[in-house]
Amino acid sequence: MTDIGRVVVVGASAAGLTTAEALRREGFAGLITLVGDELHLPYDRPPLSKQVLLGKWEPERTSFRDDATYQRLEIGLRLGATATGVDLDARTVSLASGDRVPYDRLVIATGVRPLRLRQGHELRGVHVLRTLDDTLALRAALAGSTSVAVVGAGFLGSEAAAAARTLGKEVTLVDLVPVPLSRQFGDELGGWIGDLHRDHGVTLRTGVGVRKLLGDEAVTGLELADGTTVTADVVLVAIGSKPATDWLAASGVPLDDGVLCDTTCEAVPGVYAAGDVARWHNERFGVSMRVEHRMNATEQGMAVAKNITGDPKPFTPIPYFWTDQFDARIQAYGIFPPDAKMTVAQGDPTTRKLIAHYHHDGDLVGVLGWNMPRELRAARALLTRD
Ligand SMILES: Cc1cc2nc3c(=O)[nH]c(=O)nc-3n(C[C@H](O)[C@H](O)[C@H](O)COP(=O)(O)OP(=O)(O)OC[C@H]3O[C@@H](n4cnc5c(N)ncnc54)[C@H](O)[C@@H]3O)c2cc1C
Repeated sequence: MTDIGRVVVVGASAAGLTTAEALRREGFAGLITLVGDELHLPYDRPPLSKQVLLGKWEPERTSFRDDATYQRLEIGLRLGATATGVDLDARTVSLASGDRVPYDRLVIATGVRPLRLRQGHELRGVHVLRTLDDTLALRAALAGSTSVAVVGAGFLGSEAAAAARTLGKEVTLVDLVPVPLSRQFGDELGGWIGDLHRDHGVTLRTGVGVRKLLGDEAVTGLELADGTTVTADVVLVAIGSKPATDWLAASGVPLDDGVLCDTTCEAVPGVYAAGDVARWHNERFGVSMRVEHRMNATEQGMAVAKNITGDPKPFTPIPYFWTDQFDARIQAYGIFPPDAKMTVAQGDPTTRKLIAHYHHDGDLVGVLGWNMPRELRAARALLTRD
């Protein structure tokens, strides 16, 4: 560690902050600069589509740390600062302000950006949901709305649809895929999630894409590819995201749907990546991964800090995620390849309490729990492949 005086972390959120704090825990005494383009103190995103959208939490509650903690840990926060490039030879990060920030080690933790529809995004009432500001804008719009269309029935879209319905709105959930979340968990389990939404009064329009957004200045609804229309005074576009790597395009940092790292999360000598933006080879499962889930941001941030300060070790987590929709908490460990075979190992879908096993090539590679947290923790042990 003797040659390392300065670590710069770009992306001041879950992965970046975890890396900075873990560096201090590992005994790193040099300069740490945490660069982020948002203006808020680093905050947590999962509550945005749940407690904050529902109005149960005020925004401050999502902050990870207060000002005093950054001072105590001597983490130099540069908020409102957008990184625009990296010079790998000079070992500097350039900022939109024109500043160049020198580093000995660089950690890229810039996450992902939401995709937008090509047409109609400028209409009033059309939203995406990634940042605290996005959530507050959507929350304010929902307060004055009666009908909401959510485009995209992935995790984010399904959670937001559940929140909007809980707030008493007429909600239509639209997706090109016939069964919600089937790409993540297969048709059968996705079908049960679809039923959960239907039973709570969400209208599902699946298996059909959006042709265009309707409205002049403000959105009035959607026209679908089959010619039918959906009325909505608020539209949430939740059609996925892409890694926030544009700023690295000319840098020489290897990019391939994320920052391409080796097994230890190092992309090129001295440059690491963590969180939603990082792609690496997970030796435990023998696959290349990029994981857009909260737990991975923490685990990978800690792994990067350890690899910067000590002997580099491969990062081999069992990925974990959870989602809350209506009264369902769905949690999962492992991987869920599209051709995995799902079986219900415990519980029963009709009671909305179950443990599902996912087998691939004869191996148990994923376990999923629906309102059975204790049993799921036990099921996780079956997965461990050392
Ligand atoms: C609404 C919502 C709900 C979620 N719910 C769940 C859930 O229930 N369960 C779960 O497992 N996961 C959930 N997630 C996913 C989880 O929040 C992410 O996996 C996690 O935030 C990833 O952290 P990160 O630090 O890698 O990236 P991010 O949190 O995206 O942070 C990246 C930061 O870098 C900044 N940045 C980008 N480019 C630049 C640049 N050029 N210069 C400076 N700064 C830059 C961004 O503005 C951002 O602040 C949810 C995500 C969202 C948005």
